[in-house]
Amino acid sequence: MRLRVLGCSGGELPHHRTTCFLLGARLAVDAGALTASLSLPELMRVDDVVLTHGHLDHVKDVPLVADLLAGRRRRPIRIHASTACARSLRQDVFNDRLWPDFTRIPDRRRPIIEIRPFAPSRPFRAGAFRFQPIPVEHTVESVGFVVSDGRGAIAISGDTGPSDRLWAAVNRVERLRALLVECSFPNALQGLAARSGHLTPATLAGELAKLDGAGIPILLYHLKPAHEARLRREVAALRRGDVRVLADGDRFTF
Ligand SMILES: [Zn+2]
Ligand SMILES: [Zn+2]
Repeated sequence: MRLRVLGCSGGELPHHRTTCFLLGARLAVDAGALTASLSLPELMRVDDVVLTHGHLDHVKDVPLVADLLAGRRRRPIRIHASTACARSLRQDVFNDRLWPDFTRIPDRRRPIIEIRPFAPSRPFRAGAFRFQPIPVEHTVESVGFVVSDGRGAIAISGDTGPSDRLWAAVNRVERLRALLVECSFPNALQGLAARSGHLTPATLAGELAKLDGAGIPILLYHLKPAHEARLRREVAALRRGDVRVLADGDRFTF
């Protein structure tokens, strides 16, 4: 499985793009950095976008891609969204106020995007991959994923605070190649992290203690850029050789 990190930051600044992982060439998990990272030919190859939740930093390029590719695609781009996230996209984004309803443009039968809701704990297929969503702990309905291509799997936490369900699901996965885990705020902002459903290095350490397997690469993302230096120091102080912080532009083959 090829993974290209288009965005792995918890906020946007120069050289910091929001969450967006390209799997192979045709599927993206979250849409925080599609239009800023991919060329037009690359973007036109993306057939599926799978969303963890409806927060802006994860969905913002869905409306921009719809606008950009209008008239350039024969088939709709499939936007896979959990029930609540799909509702939010329809009501809050493609509502003909914030943005035109691209699920009916150019016409209802052949729109530029198609929103495909999934139940937050039922597996589904998207492109060449099988997705097992796992409901996690955030302020809105949010899921992590185990994504497999038949040969191996990776897990992505989604935006979440401490979660038992995520690790129970991860511990059941065979041939797990990597774990992508959010770590948003430094320890001094633990109160904010708890209220907003995010991890700090301190709560991350507690979460990693729930992981059974050893030696699986743990790749951190969603660091808030305004706190990045402190976060990196606190992550380094965990003294875990299996943990590293992702960077925009990273590429892996698992
Ligand atoms: Zn969020
Ligand atoms: Zn986020």
